[in-house]
Amino acid sequence: MTNTTAESYELLVVGGGVAGLTAATFTARAGLSTLVVDHGESILRRNAHLENFPGFPAGVNPRLFADMLQTQATRNGADYQKGLVDDLSGTIEEGFVATVGAVDDTDEPDSREINADRVLVASWADVSYLDGLDVEIRDAGSKQYVDDDGLGRTNVAGIYTAGRIAERYHQAIIAAGDGAETAITLIHDSDTPFYNDWVVPEGYFTDRGREVPPGCEEIDAAEQAARQAASRAAMQEYFADSHDQRQRTHPSLVDDEQGRIGWDDDTDSS
Ligand SMILES: Cc1cc2nc3c(=O)[nH]c(=O)nc-3n(C[C@H](O)[C@H](O)[C@H](O)COP(=O)(O)OP(=O)(O)OC[C@H]3O[C@@H](n4cnc5c(N)ncnc54)[C@H](O)[C@@H]3O)c2cc1C
Repeated sequence: MTNTTAESYELLVVGGGVAGLTAATFTARAGLSTLVVDHGESILRRNAHLENFPGFPAGVNPRLFADMLQTQATRNGADYQKGLVDDLSGTIEEGFVATVGAVDDTDEPDSREINADRVLVASWADVSYLDGLDVEIRDAGSKQYVDDDGLGRTNVAGIYTAGRIAERYHQAIIAAGDGAETAITLIHDSDTPFYNDWVVPEGYFTDRGREVPPGCEEIDAAEQAARQAASRAAMQEYFADSHDQRQRTHPSLVDDEQGRIGWDDDTDSS
């Protein structure tokens, strides 16, 4: 099937790994219409057991964790599509257009266009889709990194970056934090009213004569109890059974006598 559709978002996030999905959670919660386009699998799925991400004292299955990040982004209002962004053009004044190719085993069209006011680059490791823009790329041997101002802004207005591709330390918590930081930078740049993304008990601001700041929410005791019950139920469901996706490994080890599996993207040597 070959056809082209055009969709419009305030933000396109390229890459649904740790950085991209965390960023999308923040931008969607701030009210920016956000689409995550993800080619394949976060490199984190190669990990055997994730033991240093805060909040999981006994560690967590990395494939379950990646699924939970995706659900967190969509539950907070982001859209998620499988696809390979293979070209990007435009400006912040006129908007950006991404050409997205299909990924096998999805129902998405072979080629489609996404329009976006801003783009957040959180992919790894191929950056060739940025060739049509003058984004500064740093060559480091076999790897390429997108330069930024330390808060996620590239040299091209409207193009942001986060995570491994921005040459942050190669740890999941760093990628998540960097995704959040770039997202908040982007929210500020888009003139979306924002103070902090906080959920606080009823009266926390208002009983002190303050308005609830933009980005914050006051919830009463009943709502707090309802959300905590929903949270407990969701976590019990997540952890009720072992995750069914097989362990991934380095592409160079695939098809060996042990029957190990990798994935279809062998561009990365990490
Ligand atoms: C074997 C291994 C074990 C690890 N163990 C740990 C650990 O124990 N603890 C820890 O903290 N960290 C660990 N890490 C590091 C951690 O996985 C990374 O630092 C983290 O995943 C980086 O997040 P990211 O979002 O930048 O990249 P990723 O999570 O890899 O996400 C990038 C996403 O972009 C997508 N993508 C790429 N190109 C395109 C495109 N053109 N269009 C659309 N989508 C695209 C990819 O499919 C991928 O889903 C490990 C890494 C490896 C390889």
